[in-house]
Amino acid sequence: MKYDVLIAGGGVAGLTLALKLVKKNIRVLLIEKAKQNPQKVLYKGELLQPKSIKIFSDLGLYSLLEKESYPLHVIHSIEVELQENGFPTPIFESELRYDKLDSFYNQAFMLPHEKLRSILLEELKRYETFHYIWPGTFLNFTEDQNPDARKARIKTKDEELYCQADFYVGAEGRVSKIRDSMKTKVKESDYNHQFLTVSFPRPPSLKDSVIFASKDSFLGLFPLPGGEVRTVLLIQPGQLKKMKEDGIESFYRAYYQFMPEMKGYVDSVGWRDIQLMIPKRHNVSHYVEENKVIIGDTAHSVHPMAGEGMNLAIQDADVLGELLGWMYTENKTDHKHLTWFETIRKPRAEYLSFLSHQSALAYSFPYQTARKTRMRALYYMENIPRLHFKQMLNISGLGMWKFSAWDYMRTIGLPPWFTSKKQYSPQKQQPHFFTHKDDYPWYYKYH
Ligand SMILES: Cc1cc2nc3c(=O)[nH]c(=O)nc-3n(C[C@H](O)[C@H](O)[C@H](O)COP(=O)(O)OP(=O)(O)OC[C@H]3O[C@@H](n4cnc5c(N)ncnc54)[C@H](O)[C@@H]3O)c2cc1C
Repeated sequence: MKYDVLIAGGGVAGLTLALKLVKKNIRVLLIEKAKQNPQKVLYKGELLQPKSIKIFSDLGLYSLLEKESYPLHVIHSIEVELQENGFPTPIFESELRYDKLDSFYNQAFMLPHEKLRSILLEELKRYETFHYIWPGTFLNFTEDQNPDARKARIKTKDEELYCQADFYVGAEGRVSKIRDSMKTKVKESDYNHQFLTVSFPRPPSLKDSVIFASKDSFLGLFPLPGGEVRTVLLIQPGQLKKMKEDGIESFYRAYYQFMPEMKGYVDSVGWRDIQLMIPKRHNVSHYVEENKVIIGDTAHSVHPMAGEGMNLAIQDADVLGELLGWMYTENKTDHKHLTWFETIRKPRAEYLSFLSHQSALAYSFPYQTARKTRMRALYYMENIPRLHFKQMLNISGLGMWKFSAWDYMRTIGLPPWFTSKKQYSPQKQQPHFFTHKDDYPWYYKYH
């Protein structure tokens, strides 16, 4: 059987794309190499930004996701001086609020990553046009000169198969065979820190997301449904080894020093629950080649600080799904139309990657001057309505309004500027939200 679209990779990118496509009656073959229902919980992004919620809402999943998620309205940042007596002194507090956005989608959802994937897979199984090989590994392509004759080589437990499709989508995450088969250039960068991440029951006082920062460390706390909290602790390379030598108590102490109420909560975890996260960033030269397209982490991986990786993957899938749907409906399956995908998604993903990188740098340097700059930036971001709106709009994915040189001056308080708690007015906000035409311009170009 020949498929319309073959997707390598059943992460959020591949699953969301598959769902968009089968809903448009497109025949999909999805290949996922990992086993279903992994025994060990993998922390791979739990924060669904407003645009991703809108995308799933358009796919008919809003009520289900709302029921399964913990809503987030605010991101609190608290700078503390750590004290010998174990009770940290707060020296600065700020908040960035999703509800500053004039949109129905003015909150984020916290939802365990594997839960989201299982919701998508269960939904997909209801469609006859959905086919999958799980577990199965995409190996490579046959060497046909004609892209339309090209087949994918798939390895399953028992055999090797050749499958053919009109279009091939690489959604295999950071390491991708489909990307390797394209002549893409990959630009990578590393960071001077790592993270430890784990979830556990949360103290009742923790109701919103909070980022605690000291001069040289950082603890992010993000409530999950079911009374849990996902936590992210910044450490230096090599610090995990030292912590392991010192014993698990040293890990617990790293939490108590920021939030003494963590006693009795963080100590329910052991080393085997804790996951090491090594942040990396990459961008590629192009996303499309002939009938091959790459999406999600295959095309761009971002620093996890701003919680964008999973959301960029979902947003890629949305635009590509809509484009392929249009190509089939309008009988315009010429490969050249795929470049629309890159035109829309590459600049957006690269800007979000840049913003995530900037947030990472703000917490990367253990100097007082770096810290003062960070606190100033947070202060002005919170209190200048236009900056507050820009920041939330950009991270929400609902629009993109780049920070100008002038905005950067304002974030360091130059010149001294009028600050206010007011919302940037809905009339001023509206032009900056993405419209249907911004997201899917091909509908307008050809009609
Ligand atoms: C430890 C960790 C923590 C993270 N935390 C956050 C966070 O807090 N917030 C956030 O937004 N993002 C976070 N991310 C990033 C986020 O997980 C990714 O951006 C997102 O999952 C990308 O989705 P994807 O579908 O593109 O790739 P993936 O989720 O990596 O999915 C790729 C899938 O393809 C499969 N695959 C790979 N090769 C093949 C092959 N040859 N054949 C078949 N299948 C294949 C893999 O098994 C995998 O299931 C984190 C990532 C990691 C690793």
